[in-house]
Amino acid sequence: MKSRKSVKASHLSALPSVDELLKGPDGSQWLASFPRTIVVQAIRDIIAERRQEILSGAQSDTSYASLSFGIHAKIQKLSSFSLLPVINATGIVLHTNLGRAVLSEKAVKNVIAVSRGYSNLEYDLDAGKRGKRHSHTARILRQLAGAEDALIVNNNAAAVLLSLSTIAKDREVIVSRGELVEIGGSFRVPDVMAASGATLREIGTTNKTHLYDYQKAVNEKTGLILKVHQSNYKITGFTEDVSIEQLSALGKERGIPVMYDLGSGCLIDLKPYGIHGEPSLQEIMKSGADLVTFSGDKLLGGPQGGIIVGRQDLLEKIRKNPLARAVRVDKMTIAAFEATLLDYLDPDKVLQNIPVLRMLFQSRETIKSRAKKIAAQLRRQSVSAEIALVKDSSKAGGGSLPETEFESYAISIDPRHITVNELETRLRTGSRPIVARIKDNALLLDARTIQDQDIKELIRLVSAALRA
Ligand SMILES: *Cc1c(COP(=O)(O)O)cnc(C)c1O
Repeated sequence: MKSRKSVKASHLSALPSVDELLKGPDGSQWLASFPRTIVVQAIRDIIAERRQEILSGAQSDTSYASLSFGIHAKIQKLSSFSLLPVINATGIVLHTNLGRAVLSEKAVKNVIAVSRGYSNLEYDLDAGKRGKRHSHTARILRQLAGAEDALIVNNNAAAVLLSLSTIAKDREVIVSRGELVEIGGSFRVPDVMAASGATLREIGTTNKTHLYDYQKAVNEKTGLILKVHQSNYKITGFTEDVSIEQLSALGKERGIPVMYDLGSGCLIDLKPYGIHGEPSLQEIMKSGADLVTFSGDKLLGGPQGGIIVGRQDLLEKIRKNPLARAVRVDKMTIAAFEATLLDYLDPDKVLQNIPVLRMLFQSRETIKSRAKKIAAQLRRQSVSAEIALVKDSSKAGGGSLPETEFESYAISIDPRHITVNELETRLRTGSRPIVARIKDNALLLDARTIQDQDIKELIRLVSAALRA
C-alpha cells in the first residue's frame, strides 16, 4: 500500500504550473478577455487552494476541467468591483455597515453633473476670481440652522477633532462622565480629546451630573465646555444631566465657549412624527450653544460629512486651523450636500424627497402593502418555500433615535429544500447582494428599507436562490 505521504506527493506533482495553465486550452481566451495580471493571479490562487486541500488530506479535484472552472470563477471575482450596491432588507434605515444614508435623487444627479466635468469649486463666478469651497453650502446651512456660520468637513469625528484642536488645544475641556461615549467602535470621546491636544476634565458621575459640578470645574485653564449626545445608549433610573441651555448660560457668564456634539443632527421638528426628546437643530441653536457638530449621513440623509455650525469668530478660527485642510470635503460631497440641503427649504416635500426621512416616517400601511406585494409576487413564482407576511420592528440605526422602535412588516421565507442559513448565504454572496436577517428559523425581508425600484430584482434573486 502506498503511504499517505506518497499519495499526497503524487497529487501535488499532478498540479500543473502557472505556465502550463496559461498555455492550456482556455488560456488564450482568458488572456483575450482579461488583463494578464488578473489571469495570472487567479491561476496562482487556484493552484494554492488545491495545494492546500491536498496537504490537509481533503478531497481535491485536480482535473483540467475543474481547475479551469475554478480559474474562470476567480478571474470574474478579481475583475469585478468590491464595493457593490446591495439591497438592504434589514429594516435598519441608517445601517452603518451598509453605507448609512441613501442619497436623494437630486443629490445623486448633482454629484454626476458636478464631477463629470469642471466646476466652480473654488472659483467665484461673479467676481471672476478665486473663491472658497465652503461658500457653496455655508449660506443655506446658516439659513436652515439659524446659525451665524457653518463649515462641512469629512465626518462628524473630524468636526469634533478640528473644533477641539482649534479652541481647546493645551486647555481643559469639561465633560460629564455620563457623556464619555463610544460610537461605532472607533469614535471615543476621551481618545478624540487626546488626539486634539486638549485635556479631558471629567466631572460628575455616570448617572448624575449637576450644574454645580460644571461650576466647580471651571478654572483659568478651561478652554471649552462640551456636551455630547449619548446617541446609541441611554441611562435610565436615578439620573440627572445639565441641559444645553443651562450650560450655555454658564459659558456666557464665565466667558467660556460651549460646544454640543449632537451626533445625529436633525433639521426638522420630529414631534409630529411621534419622536420627542430629539430637539431640532434650530431649537438647539436657540439654546445659545456656541458650536454644534453633527453628521451629514445620519438623520440629515446626506453624504458622509461633519457639519459645524455656530459663532462666526469661532468658525473663522476653525477654518484657519491647518487640520481643516486635512479634513476638507471634496466636490462630490459638496454637490451632494448642496442638493440635500436645498430639499430642506421645502418642508412640505422634504419627507418625500429625502430617502432617510421617507423610510423612517412612511406609514405602516405603505410598508405593509409593499411587503404584501413582494410576498404575492414570490408566491406567483411558485418558489419552494413557505412565504408569510409578518410584523417586524427595527431601530433607526447609526446611533440615531436609539429609543424608538419602528414597527414594520416583513416577508418571512421558510425554504423547503435548502436550509435557511444556506438561503441567507446565497442571497448575501450573489452579484447583487441582499442583506437579510434570520429569525425563528425563517429568513426575514423587512420591507421598510427595500427600495421600490429594487423589488423586481429582489423577486428574481430570491426565486433563483430558492430554485438552485
Ligand atoms: C455618530 C456620532 C459621531 C461620529 O460621527 P461620524 O460622522 O460617524 O464621524 C460623533 N459623536 C456622536 C455623538 C455621534 O452620534
